[in-house]
Amino acid sequence: MKFILVLLVIVIAVFVWRSNRRYSLGSRSAARPTPPGAPQDMVRCPVCALHLPRADARVGRRGRYCSDEHRQQAEG
Ligand SMILES: [Zn+2]
Repeated sequence: MKFILVLLVIVIAVFVWRSNRRYSLGSRSAARPTPPGAPQDMVRCPVCALHLPRADARVGRRGRYCSDEHRQQAEG
């Protein structure tokens, strides 16, 4: 019974150590997908000429729009 308890403590310690290690490695070297302030690929809405990140744009048949409303307005 004592052996199982010791084993459990070791398993928990290794788990905590590994998750801490992964966290510190991640915060140091892992590339964030879009860090704030980093240049992003911008697109222009043909209806209102608003510039917005490509990831946020609504894709239509004839271009990218700032909203579904403007996509419908332009494409019918
Ligand atoms: Zn628009």
